[in-house]
Amino acid sequence: MAQPFATINSAQALVFRGALLCWFQKHQRTLPWRGESDPYRILVSEIMLQQTRVAVVEERYKKFIAQFPTVERLARAREQTVLAAWSGLGYYRRARNLHAAAKQVAGGNGFPCTAQALQELPGIGRYTANAVASIAFGEQVPVVDGNVKRVLQRFSGRELGKEQYWQAAGMLLAPESPGDFNQAMMELGAVICVPGNPLCTVCPVVDLCVSRGAHAQAERAARKKAVIEYSLCLKNRSVLLQRRPQNSSLMPGMWELPPCKGKGKTVQPLMRLKHSITTTDYSVLVFAGNGRNKGQWVPLKNTERFALTGLTLKILRKLKGAAS
Ligand code: SF4
Repeated sequence: MAQPFATINSAQALVFRGALLCWFQKHQRTLPWRGESDPYRILVSEIMLQQTRVAVVEERYKKFIAQFPTVERLARAREQTVLAAWSGLGYYRRARNLHAAAKQVAGGNGFPCTAQALQELPGIGRYTANAVASIAFGEQVPVVDGNVKRVLQRFSGRELGKEQYWQAAGMLLAPESPGDFNQAMMELGAVICVPGNPLCTVCPVVDLCVSRGAHAQAERAARKKAVIEYSLCLKNRSVLLQRRPQNSSLMPGMWELPPCKGKGKTVQPLMRLKHSITTTDYSVLVFAGNGRNKGQWVPLKNTERFALTGLTLKILRKLKGAAS
């Protein structure tokens, strides 16, 4: 197998680490989980950050930690309460796995403190285990996420194999501060070596980088478009909600407005909004419903106690905003 960094020697790796860590110290964003040493809180932030934008996670992380400040508190919570707290973050399997992991930790011998042991917990893969182990416990293990991959690809000037990314990240890792180094690599990918056009002129490792942006690609996947319709049924300040089937592949067991189809061709919607899920941008049309759908009537003031889908939360907030 070709070495991932044929072009970098150990002295250059040393310079890379120094430049990256120095830049990170000065320029890292202030985020609620920065400087955190509690493995549970680091785990919550890492799980939330998978597939959800930092700006969304920032607000939700603080609320989640206020509601479940310790792993024991999360372990004791009911699943519906956890899902309701996760509402709007999407990818609810993460919340279920986090809840199951909390139960396992609370019922066992304390928080696992190695990457290997962390991977025994439900839903925790190599990336998350290494992130928690390096940041909370100082274990010398690298992380590779989408941001780190992009940095490594451009830095080395070529596409690497899956395992080569991990080797490359491991070669560059700062052994004395692996947690800061890993966060710095991810931060570099998030704010400097960004998708599309990287900001090479302000990059701390530009002198060592092979591509300096020349290999930057428009990595943005082509986005799909779709229309989705819902019925809004209101009665005595209550709204009709339906629960998605437990065997649904998307958001099982979550609550939403009753879906409908084809009304947009003949009826004017009450509300239009945009909503994006993974690679699809939805045009959402909400119509006045007749209340004959199956479901549960929920007082509007209580809806946020339910595990709502992110889109339903958005629609109801818009509705409440319009009424206030
Ligand atoms: S110099 Fe440019 S392409 Fe290279 S790592 Fe820095 S930002 Fe990315």
